[in-house]
Amino acid sequence: MLVVMKAQATPEEIQAVCGYIQQLGFRPHPLPGAQRTAIGITGNHGQIDQGILEEFSGVAEVIQVSKPYKLVSRDAKEEDTVIRFSGTDASIGGRDLAMIAGPCSIESREQAFAIAEAVANAGAQFFRGGAYKPRTSPYSFQGFGEEALQIMAEVRERFGLLIVSEAIDNEALELIDQYVDIIQIGARNMQNFSLLKAAGRKRKPVLLKRGIAATLEEFLMAAEYIMSEGNYQVVLCERGVRTFADHTRNTLDLSIVPAVQRLSHLPIIVDPSHGTGKRNKVIPLGRAAVAVGCDGLIIEVHHQPDKALSDGAQSIYPDQFAQLMDEASQIAAVLHRNVPRGIHQTETVAAK
Ligand code: PEP
Ligand code: MN
Repeated sequence: MLVVMKAQATPEEIQAVCGYIQQLGFRPHPLPGAQRTAIGITGNHGQIDQGILEEFSGVAEVIQVSKPYKLVSRDAKEEDTVIRFSGTDASIGGRDLAMIAGPCSIESREQAFAIAEAVANAGAQFFRGGAYKPRTSPYSFQGFGEEALQIMAEVRERFGLLIVSEAIDNEALELIDQYVDIIQIGARNMQNFSLLKAAGRKRKPVLLKRGIAATLEEFLMAAEYIMSEGNYQVVLCERGVRTFADHTRNTLDLSIVPAVQRLSHLPIIVDPSHGTGKRNKVIPLGRAAVAVGCDGLIIEVHHQPDKALSDGAQSIYPDQFAQLMDEASQIAAVLHRNVPRGIHQTETVAAK
């Protein structure tokens, strides 16, 4: 159920509706929009009497939502969600594209700094790097854990880049939350509902990757899990799905970008690195993703990919990343969008 408030509803009127919903044992989710505030209702304690809600002052209408997701839906919030990062000019979901780049895994301080310097010079605003790696084989490199997170914190300090790293389980999430600017939930965990709910209780943006065989609806419902716990800062990420095709590691499903944009207000970025698994296909598919209208790219970059401990074959060289930035920038202009170059501090923020 969705309570749509009148455009001129006062904060007190919104609060009164929220209070009533809470009193019934449900959770209200006020989602302010440009025109009006809609209040999503979640919880599984049965039905709420629509008629009573309609009588509250300031209420325009009460809508029964037939879709299995509501907070992610454009019914709840018409205009695009734009996620901002305090103290910087970086954002995800607005006119600017978010360019996230870095190695699959943090392997050493030297490696992380060399790659961070290169991607920062090329204009990236976000630095990715795995500390906990979800590997298919238990004998493959599993990541350096907190040590890697400390290196990433140093990268933030030195280059001003915002940090993205994956939480593979609830335990890692607690630690990741202390270090990163964006919590990544990987494809293998897209339906780890306990992890999704735990991430929903954090107050940092969550980058949610599409599951290896997830439908659009399953993908949106995974995002709904996060939002239903009160974290509305979710970025979706298409990273390829498993098909019969074997010329690439996964099949990058770019058609999901406009499909998501039609149904949801959440930003969606694309990962052509995991989406193709092949270095020579990352730039072409990265360009295509920008052309299809995504809100950003996440790219694996390595200065010595032959020596990478994970995903070397799909990691592009720093100069290739610079080329992709230039090309993405030109394609974005056709769509009246912009690829920002570098990150700037806008104010001093004492603590987040
Ligand atoms: C990654 O980003 O390195 C990763 C493991 O991604 P995915 O979950 O999409 O496989
Ligand atoms: Mn990887």
